[in-house]
Amino acid sequence: MDLAPRAVVRPEAGVSRRAQVRRLGLLVERPLPLDERQLAAVMREVAGIWQPYGIEIGWGEAARAAPDARLRVVITEATPGGEPTRLARATLGWIEFVGPGRPRDVVTVSLGAVRRLLDAARLFGRPLTLMAPALQDRFITQALGRSLAHEIGHYLCGTADHAPRGLMRERFSPAELLEPGLDAYRLDPQQRCELPGSVR
Ligand SMILES: [Zn+2]
Repeated sequence: MDLAPRAVVRPEAGVSRRAQVRRLGLLVERPLPLDERQLAAVMREVAGIWQPYGIEIGWGEAARAAPDARLRVVITEATPGGEPTRLARATLGWIEFVGPGRPRDVVTVSLGAVRRLLDAARLFGRPLTLMAPALQDRFITQALGRSLAHEIGHYLCGTADHAPRGLMRERFSPAELLEPGLDAYRLDPQQRCELPGSVR
């Protein structure tokens, strides 16, 4: 079995315990490449995606107030790299698995990758970078929030697998990242993921 030697596998981090998680605390690593308003927007996005599944997302002080599990969140300027075979990788974020069904308790999302996507994105034939700063800002916070919610899905579901549609699909297009609604970010009913408040 090809387990990463640098991570300790603890029994309490197993799938059965994650299936009990209702309150997930996110410990956001600082310093951050975002301001506090942007971070709040990212977190609102994550909370909005997971709320229908009975998962309450806490961050800041709430992350320390006895949640069922805590996950470290790294928001980095760096773009994806590392060892692809052990990473469940969306374009914009990643989480490492130490073995089958055993994610580490740290997720990373890349502001650098989001900016790169923004630089190349066009909306109605026009570069997004020529559009209103507020729209570009919305792109950045929604892209970070939605990809963070996707990585949290790998953690909560305990699998590196992707679904054909919904939150756990492998890639989100720039247009999908700018959509105001969250309909495209639900869990696919085909996705095998045991969650306490499952509404599938
Ligand atoms: Zn993924």
